Amino acid sequence: MSTSLLYNAFGIIGYFHHSTSFIAGTIPVAIQDDRWRLRCPVCRSREVRNRGRQVRRFRTVPISRKAVYIDLAVQWIECTKCQVVRQVKVQFSDEHKRYTRAFERLLLDLSRQMTIQAVDRLFWGELGSG
Ligand SMILES: [Zn+2]
Repeated sequence: MSTSLLYNAFGIIGYFHHSTSFIAGTIPVAIQDDRWRLRCPVCRSREVRNRGRQVRRFRTVPISRKAVYIDLAVQWIECTKCQVVRQVKVQFSDEHKRYTRAFERLLLDLSRQMTIQAVDRLFWGELGSG
């Protein structure tokens, strides 16, 4: 999967494709951020120290009928300007969410055409949990 496909299929910009797997009917896609673009999420300074990473998983739009997950090792930083220690912002998902904005848009579009119960069965029943 190319970085271009990340953008065109999932709306993910500024990250690199690392690997794609096929596991139990799901498609985990591992991506990496561009460490040179890291900024403090509070004051936007680029003067940050790395403080380790935490892998986070985000549900995104399916490929065919298979659930797709974006796996990203999100960088923790310490800002040398404002002293905050936080994870950097994930550009394709809102804070504290476990799904991408593209997936959210898909659910909203479908919910205008189907019942919430039908959308729920489609993504959490037939496409696996998550
Ligand atoms: Zn800062």
